[in-house]
Amino acid sequence: MLIIGSHVSFGGEQLLGSAKEAVSYGANTFMFYTGAPQNTKRTNIREDLLLEAKNYMAQNGIDLSHVICHAPYIINLANNSDLEKWQFSIQFLKNELSRCDALGISYLVLHPGSAVGLPKDVALQNIVDALNLVLSSQFKCQILLETMAGKGTECGSNLEEMAFLTEKLPLVGVCLDTCHLNDSGVDMQYFSEYLEEFDQKIGIHRIHCVHINDSKNGLSSHKDRHANIGFGTIGFDNLLNVIYNEKLKDVPKILETPYVGKSFDDKEKLYPPYRVEIDMIRKKKRDENFLETIQNIYNK
Ligand code: FE
Ligand code: FE
Ligand code: ZN
Repeated sequence: MLIIGSHVSFGGEQLLGSAKEAVSYGANTFMFYTGAPQNTKRTNIREDLLLEAKNYMAQNGIDLSHVICHAPYIINLANNSDLEKWQFSIQFLKNELSRCDALGISYLVLHPGSAVGLPKDVALQNIVDALNLVLSSQFKCQILLETMAGKGTECGSNLEEMAFLTEKLPLVGVCLDTCHLNDSGVDMQYFSEYLEEFDQKIGIHRIHCVHINDSKNGLSSHKDRHANIGFGTIGFDNLLNVIYNEKLKDVPKILETPYVGKSFDDKEKLYPPYRVEIDMIRKKKRDENFLETIQNIYNK
């Protein structure tokens, strides 16, 4: 069965609100941030809402073991030039994992980090050291390192770096991101060959989430700007090949595509594209009137 959902918010109703939003998109899983992705302000988990969320999910065909959490962007384990900041990142990640454990979430997606001024090999070792410190407190929730576009000094934008990290950190898994792969130089026409190589160097069994995004930029652009499914440089058929790849059939697929308005680049009146994108994916057919279909849903 296809396990598909999108990024959703974690607002006043916490996981219950996230689950309701996911169901409104026709999804059977979702990914959320425990607060704004750009900051570390977090509210306490409410037990009453959690219980309600679990009941709601059970009634609506969402298996909690497929639900993904994403750590905030400001955690950077790769650079320890400012020791206090590095230690803050480690502590915040630990708090995030405790929150995931309290919610019963199995996977937390994390960007490996950016070297900013440090040599790559030093940055990669910092990530290993930081994660070893984090993992010394045992959490049920597993960290998934995301494959990155290679924007700026991002670590984890090629198989060699991911292989180094996953070899040194046997307890962490991997989250693939199709936009990031394209932007880092993986031609998505040849995704099965990439997966073959991934299997040899890392192991497919370590992939527990795939972010499905088209890209606004070309191969090896190192930009990281997501486009709507079938409306970017990767294209609908190449994305379907990832989504329906037999070897990844039990892995949750998460859309992180941009909201749209009257045009793809509209800045006002933005609507979530996920209901229409999930529908296109299930039907394996691109909606040529994508923007109008979305406007018709939300303009009622
Ligand atoms: Fe991410
Ligand atoms: Fe992603
Ligand atoms: Zn991205």
